[in-house]
Amino acid sequence: MTDVLQSIRNTAKRMNEPLDESVFPERLSVEAGAIAQVAPYLRDRGDERISIVCDLTTFEAAGARLLGDAKAAGLAAEVTIVNPNAQGDVVADEASIMQVILDIQRTKADIAVAAGSGTIHDIVRFAAYTTGIPFVSVPTAPSVDGFTSKGAPILVRGEKITLPAIGPVALFADISILRAAPAPLIAAGFGDMLGKYTSLFDWTFGHLAGGEPYSPLAAELTQQALTACVENADAIGGSTEEGVTILIDALIQSGIAMLLFGQSHPASGAEHHLSHYWEMAFVREGRRQLLHGAKVGVACTLIAALYHRIGTGGLPAAVGAAERRHAIESHWNEIQAAISRIPGESRLRELIRTAGGPSTLEELGVERELADRSLQEAHRVRLNRFTLLRVINEG
Ligand SMILES: [Zn+2]
Repeated sequence: MTDVLQSIRNTAKRMNEPLDESVFPERLSVEAGAIAQVAPYLRDRGDERISIVCDLTTFEAAGARLLGDAKAAGLAAEVTIVNPNAQGDVVADEASIMQVILDIQRTKADIAVAAGSGTIHDIVRFAAYTTGIPFVSVPTAPSVDGFTSKGAPILVRGEKITLPAIGPVALFADISILRAAPAPLIAAGFGDMLGKYTSLFDWTFGHLAGGEPYSPLAAELTQQALTACVENADAIGGSTEEGVTILIDALIQSGIAMLLFGQSHPASGAEHHLSHYWEMAFVREGRRQLLHGAKVGVACTLIAALYHRIGTGGLPAAVGAAERRHAIESHWNEIQAAISRIPGESRLRELIRTAGGPSTLEELGVERELADRSLQEAHRVRLNRFTLLRVINEG
């Protein structure tokens, strides 16, 4: 069984880069049956009152088992099943977070367990942080790279903001549970990883032309994780033990690369800005949410197509204050080379299809008009990030 943390140590050593292991969870277990280790871990930590947080689906997948195991280990455990909103989605908004905070306070929990996919984790990381207790991560689907994140993207009155919170003290990724996750969630995890093609490009671009900070180690770790997923797209699409293990390892490694860098640059560029833009439009219109990674995958194909046009045709004449234009032109060969490392749009679509996800706007359920608007405006969702999309739109 591969060990993500050891592999990260090996990479840092090979690159002769310092490694801050304080960002690692104190316990990481990725294997079939890992869920059985949760209750003994909590008991050994000395925790007595456990708050298990899930939704109706993930209660079946993991919550019920965690509750039974905790009680059998002599722990006082209670489950909070987060209610869906009016559209039927469980979202990380003020109502969900308040529901969990009230339960943690009522039960005087020592520790929370997030049993679910990305949204449940974001709710728990913020509720645990606010109530001053740690939390344990039990992902039920390999759907996002944010399980270990210290930032909580949450919706407050319909606006998405990212607030400081905490990462999990331990992560138990049970491959048997992850393999049983719905196929669209597995494909979404693949889509979140595929987006690293354009996020890594934007990071290189921002570093060369916009003076953004850079970390060769975080970039290499993210690239390794991306390559592993692309080379195993078939196995991931087939939910094989090997494929799902490679995917969850990659998602964890990408998450840790962000923690090592301290910001989301390695894993989030213009493709994520498009995804956030679409998400906020859907919230405003009261529509059912789409999976984060499914949006990121399709957004990556749009950004790749746009960037390849720039790589071939050069910067539009309208770009540029002279100073900025000079910064870009003086690195043009490196920028062009970095664009050429992004696969073409059709290859990206083929990879998404192999992993079983929606590969076009139509399959995803995003209108062309919204996509076109996002390509002109989405850079505004992260005002402090220097991406090629921003330069194209703002000059
Ligand atoms: Zn993402």
